[in-house]
Amino acid sequence: MTRPYNFSAGPAAIPAEVLEQAAAEMLDWHGSGMGVMEMSHRGKEFLSIYEQAEADLRELLAVPANYKILFMQGGGLAENAIVPLNLSRAGAVDFVVTGSWSQKSQKEARKYASEVNIVASAEDTGFTTLPDPASWTVSRGASYLHICSNETINGIEFHQLPNLKALGSDAPLVIDFSSHVASRPVDWSRVGLAFGGAQKNLGPAGLTLVVVREDLLGHALPACPSAFDYKTVADNQSMYNTPPTWGIYIAGLTFQWLKRQTEGSLTGVAAMEQRNIAKAALLYNAIDSSQLYVNRVAANCRSRMNIPFFLRDESRNDAFLAGAKERGLLQLKGHKSVGGMRASVYNAMPIEGVQALVDYMREFEQKHA
Ligand SMILES: *Cc1c(COP(=O)(O)O)cnc(C)c1O
Repeated sequence: MTRPYNFSAGPAAIPAEVLEQAAAEMLDWHGSGMGVMEMSHRGKEFLSIYEQAEADLRELLAVPANYKILFMQGGGLAENAIVPLNLSRAGAVDFVVTGSWSQKSQKEARKYASEVNIVASAEDTGFTTLPDPASWTVSRGASYLHICSNETINGIEFHQLPNLKALGSDAPLVIDFSSHVASRPVDWSRVGLAFGGAQKNLGPAGLTLVVVREDLLGHALPACPSAFDYKTVADNQSMYNTPPTWGIYIAGLTFQWLKRQTEGSLTGVAAMEQRNIAKAALLYNAIDSSQLYVNRVAANCRSRMNIPFFLRDESRNDAFLAGAKERGLLQLKGHKSVGGMRASVYNAMPIEGVQALVDYMREFEQKHA
């Protein structure tokens, strides 16, 4: 069966092999007589799924032993509250605002943190640049500094995480890596906590991944709900309450798929990174070399995962989208706050899908020249 290429920003495409395996196991997982959705989360069957998923993710992302992996619920938006509820006790929290998601995060944090400081913002460039870390005015004694390491809507990515120590800050770095988790390695030496919804690059909506350094556990504000207290979640192996079992299972199948991917001598996330670099280069080159399409993001912070672009003649938007759909190129409409088009090219998107998009873009441009 050939499927269309799905460029959705999220929930997003899942590798066909993963969906096929889940379909085959839907009614009877490994001879247990039960589907995964029907199992007790405390039974040995689900525990084996959980433990394998955790171990595979730890290996794929090279998560150090002093970091806990938590499988939670509530999505990225709930984490915007859960992070300050857990980490803001020490004092002010710092934010770098580089697009829609970090903007949302800092607004939510104001409900819980005693003080929120915007230490840098790219709003003045319409979110097309990343403020140079050397210019950030980090607060003294902040409880953490939050960035969105890939801005899904604006198409801005940190290609290097900031080194807060070098900026004179002891604050742990918090990253919202929802939309580029597992697309590239993570430099954990610079990160205190990372969170992400699964529905971009790991699996279905409903599962939220949190990776947190152990020394950050156990400092929650008294008002923090128990089910959202990272220490309670960690002490109970993410089973203080019923975890999103289906999401963990599908993410686990995706982790196994990732482990099977190779690119030359590279495997797993390192292999994906090579592919993602090639996919992004193919599409950005097509945009930059055309008269019709434009992407306004500075070259040093263009996202490999979410590539917004505009038609210089916006009256052709609907025709562009209709023609794309006819060719099996789905969900290319840009976010409503930005307009235009957006191609999200997560791990599940093969380079053939990007090539098909680029071919269509050239054909459309020629036809309308
Ligand atoms: C999608 C996304 C979110 C929101 O996640 P929800 O699961 O809808 O709460 C947060 N941050 C980023 C960077 C995202 O891409």
